[in-house]
Amino acid sequence: MKALVLDRLAPIEDGPLEYRSFDDPVVGPDEVLLKVSACGVCHSNLHLIEGDLKVYGMPPALPIIPGHEVVGVIAGLGQNVKDVKIGQRVGVSVIWKTCGRCEYCLSGDENLCPERVVTGEHVDGGYAEYLKAPHDFVYPVPDNISDVDAATLFCPGVTAYRAVERADVRPGDSVMVIGIGGVGHFSVQFAKLKGARVTAVDVSEAQLELARELGADWAILSSEADEFAGSNRPNKVIMHTPAPAAINLATRVVKNRGTILMAVFGQVPVGFGGEVSIVTSMAGTKKDLHAMLKLASEGRLKVKAKGYPLSEGTEILKRLKAGKIVGRAVLVP
Ligand SMILES: [Zn+2]
Ligand SMILES: [Zn+2]
Repeated sequence: MKALVLDRLAPIEDGPLEYRSFDDPVVGPDEVLLKVSACGVCHSNLHLIEGDLKVYGMPPALPIIPGHEVVGVIAGLGQNVKDVKIGQRVGVSVIWKTCGRCEYCLSGDENLCPERVVTGEHVDGGYAEYLKAPHDFVYPVPDNISDVDAATLFCPGVTAYRAVERADVRPGDSVMVIGIGGVGHFSVQFAKLKGARVTAVDVSEAQLELARELGADWAILSSEADEFAGSNRPNKVIMHTPAPAAINLATRVVKNRGTILMAVFGQVPVGFGGEVSIVTSMAGTKKDLHAMLKLASEGRLKVKAKGYPLSEGTEILKRLKAGKIVGRAVLVP
């Protein structure tokens, strides 16, 4: 098959990804083979490629095929697989597999499994014509959504869904979403669906325009956020950027006894005052995925995504790095 293969960790401008032939995946007894239709380009893919995740042990080995927001059609079944069919359209998320035995797996919070296997980091991902995945970690895709749009549900959609749940957003809350990209554009919608008033904040006018289209009550540049919050202090702030300036903005504007929800990871110096709760959130669970896909199947989510040929992946990642992608870019083999 053809794939975008990561052979070495380096800045994306140095061309560490190569579009080339790669061995087809061989499915195990409990796995399915997907013919990939679409795979979203995530900011964390860029971090992986450039070596920023080495401190977290990612990737454990090279070469690796990145990509963890995948939609495809089932093209092969392991001998034990009975619950899905050849030809069925399914998605694969960030979490490729978990242990199934630990306290988190048993309580339905398998995103926290210490043995979780991450798609495109521990095992080959979706920047390819084919991908294999365990049969119990693929999810039927609603018929009313295109491949390109649906791919975005499997990382940004579910990450935003869980972030809004973890922030415990309620009717009447004043929610500020900082960082309106692939994930943030879903958080705006989930917070609105909860009945909150939503302020979208970004450094880009184009992202703010998108936030307005998606129903944000206010959409403001980050340079104007302090002044805005002076008369409209949010009690929940949802962070989708690890930029220190953005996180410090959150600590300045959030109401006392409010919540800052960090749906990002990393290390940043942050100033604190007053009394607030800092809550973190990571990816999403199977339960989150099913709930979010149900909302999508009911037509209650709008997706801002655009497809590009898989062979142009490096170019797209460069544009993502430069902040020039509005919504989500998706690669199509
Ligand atoms: Zn992602
Ligand atoms: Zn586990």
